[in-house]
Amino acid sequence: MPAEDTDVLIIGSGLSGLYTALLMDSALSITIITKSRMQKSNSDLAQGGIAAAIGKDDSPTLHLRDTLEAGAGLCDPEAVQVLVDEAGDNIDKLIELDPDLSDIDTEIRGQLEKDALYANYIEALQQGPTAPVDPLLANSGAVLAPRVSEQYEIGGKLALGPVFASLAFYRIERPGEGVISDGGQQVFGYVGEAKHEGVEFTLNGEVAPGLRLITGLAINDAEFDTGLEVIGVPDFTFNANAEWDIPFLPGATLTGRVTHTGEQAADSSGTLVLDDWTVVDLGARYVFAADGNPITLRLTVDNVFDEAYWASAFDTFAPAVLQGAPRTVKASLSIAL
Ligand SMILES: Cc1cc2nc3c(=O)[nH]c(=O)nc-3n(C[C@H](O)[C@H](O)[C@H](O)COP(=O)(O)OP(=O)(O)OC[C@H]3O[C@@H](n4cnc5c(N)ncnc54)[C@H](O)[C@@H]3O)c2cc1C
Repeated sequence: MPAEDTDVLIIGSGLSGLYTALLMDSALSITIITKSRMQKSNSDLAQGGIAAAIGKDDSPTLHLRDTLEAGAGLCDPEAVQVLVDEAGDNIDKLIELDPDLSDIDTEIRGQLEKDALYANYIEALQQGPTAPVDPLLANSGAVLAPRVSEQYEIGGKLALGPVFASLAFYRIERPGEGVISDGGQQVFGYVGEAKHEGVEFTLNGEVAPGLRLITGLAINDAEFDTGLEVIGVPDFTFNANAEWDIPFLPGATLTGRVTHTGEQAADSSGTLVLDDWTVVDLGARYVFAADGNPITLRLTVDNVFDEAYWASAFDTFAPAVLQGAPRTVKASLSIAL
């Protein structure tokens, strides 16, 4: 191999190597060497744009969490921390180097930060419901043909600093289902129409440094044109997930979730109704590096107050009463070698 003199030798022709070369003093001679071909790198495979927390409703902490979760224990948490902390500044530096990028940047930031109103109409082909298993029915347990549903939605989203709120009103219309008489037989089939009307509200974001919330609230009214309630659709649901990074213990996060589900009809005659329920889950995780290997410790307690409840009157495509899980304690340790 011929010997060459160079001021700077960069090993690797991915984004890191090329960007390092870009930042070097142009008076220096720079040589980049790579393993096989210039294009053979992760950078060449990445087609989705540069990931960086630059939007109003984004933050390096959310970027860190997403990256560690997607990395499933393979990431070096300290390296990811550097990446998310410095990403925004480096995007600014790239724009300084090539002002043409600022148009793209303004457009992206604008899209992310833009408050918006929207309306949509969706026509969907859905799997048909399953007939109850009942010897009195001629088609007991049969799956009905797919049905077409129509959905109208109007909503808005609003960025309030690092917090992101959305509100939507919707109406879904679809063929209803029930027991009908057909040639003297009792048959489960499509009859009339079912309407679901409701409103959904969400609030997500970093409400204070290191404190992230993901919350959602929905009010639903789902009934057939006979006036009976649709099975398994709660009238009210509320979920709140919170995460708090302990400031004096880097890598440690406390987590909590409250889930409330309102009453729901459990049979087609409307006589059986499941009670509303509320469940609280708590947890903690600690991510640290030992000998360069990222280690994640997790402890969670689901259903802390051991609430005994029927979780749902619907399972995938058919009515079925599902029991809620009792208090469950889980501990795990994952290490990437
Ligand atoms: C499929 C895929 C999709 C992705 N999508 C996105 C995305 O949309 N947005 C985003 O921000 N990130 C994305 N990523 C992550 C992103 O690609 C990486 O974070 C980024 O490319 C890392 O750049 P790098 O220069 O550090 O590494 P690389 O691009 O992998 O470059 C490493 C370089 O080192 C060279 N090299 C390695 N070993 C040697 C050796 N022994 N001697 C000489 N040279 C060597 C390699 O040949 C290569 O040129 C994606 C990754 C993948 C795999």
